[in-house]
Amino acid sequence: MKIVLGHGNPKAKVMLIGEAPGAQEVKHGKPFVGPAGKWLDKILKKNKINREKLYITNVVKVKTPDNRRPTEKEIKQWLPILISEIKKVKPKIIVLLGESASMAVLGKKVKERGKIIPKGKIKYLITYHPSAARFTKIRKTIEEDIRKVRNPK
Ligand code: URA
Repeated sequence: MKIVLGHGNPKAKVMLIGEAPGAQEVKHGKPFVGPAGKWLDKILKKNKINREKLYITNVVKVKTPDNRRPTEKEIKQWLPILISEIKKVKPKIIVLLGESASMAVLGKKVKERGKIIPKGKIKYLITYHPSAARFTKIRKTIEEDIRKVRNPK
């Protein structure tokens, strides 16, 4: 079982949280470097956001069988590591990519996407998972959502 931890700027103002690594992520030991990562890169490029400025991680740090959605038990099991990443990086804004991340961190559904949600010292933004960006309409929505974290205050 290969563990894929977060990657990026350790002092990032913006943290992105996905679901779980896939085969490419396990191979390279970095989140979002496979097909979903290609979509994410396109979305970031469109918004002129430099990936190197971000910290990108996942809720679950291992690949799930057939890339199925992680179970509640798996999410609970990996949550302390995610929390320690958040505490270390101290981002100003966390973007929750998809249902697993938004449920794990805020207990909110993706349908509540698109608004900046302040909670304690951190602001949150829920959007769709980049793997859904293959649908043009969804990609445009993710682009618009992520535009909101371009200049974090
Ligand atoms: N999907 C995710 O949620 N995370 C990755 O790192 C890759 C694909």
